[in-house]
Amino acid sequence: MRVLIEKHYTHIVNDPDGPLFKDAFLVEHKYDYIKKEGKYKNATRYEEQNERKCTICSIVQGDKNVPSYEIYRNENFIVFLNLFPYTSGHLLISPLQHFEEYETMPDGLIAEFGKEVKRAINLVKNATRTNSVNVGWNQGPNAGGSIKHFHAHVVPRFPREMNFIEIIAHSRPMIVSLEKMQEIYKKALEDIK
Ligand SMILES: [Zn+2]
Repeated sequence: MRVLIEKHYTHIVNDPDGPLFKDAFLVEHKYDYIKKEGKYKNATRYEEQNERKCTICSIVQGDKNVPSYEIYRNENFIVFLNLFPYTSGHLLISPLQHFEEYETMPDGLIAEFGKEVKRAINLVKNATRTNSVNVGWNQGPNAGGSIKHFHAHVVPRFPREMNFIEIIAHSRPMIVSLEKMQEIYKKALEDIK
């Protein structure tokens, strides 16, 4: 393992734009292991959500106890800022109705969701002037899932994001406040309508 790590490390240092993993190797017996029921780090916290009110439903309903930076909504979807953004401008897209998982949404809503993703990407590109985005979602406690109300992420990416605070203090400085970002998006929204 040490040899592998050193090999990858050297590779990353030599070519920061290269792929993170140079090799893949087969360990078939691990499949039986991962299929076993187990307690995962995030599982308890994830399941506890059944006992309290859903955060995204609260945002949809305009609950004043839940901070919300809504950008827009239409008949079936809401687009709002992530309170804990990976980068400035990190958007979330959710159906207004509570669906826990993507595949439980009706087909019509899934088709509509595709159009919402397109609109959100256009909005992010227009507002932040980037040409790079990450789009996707985390579903389930072992996949980094958090709130049990389906939500997709649209994250603008910029050429230089890492700095010493992130590496040493594991904290991400935000260059734009949520309030300011909401304002920027609302203005940009007029351009893409
Ligand atoms: Zn909900």
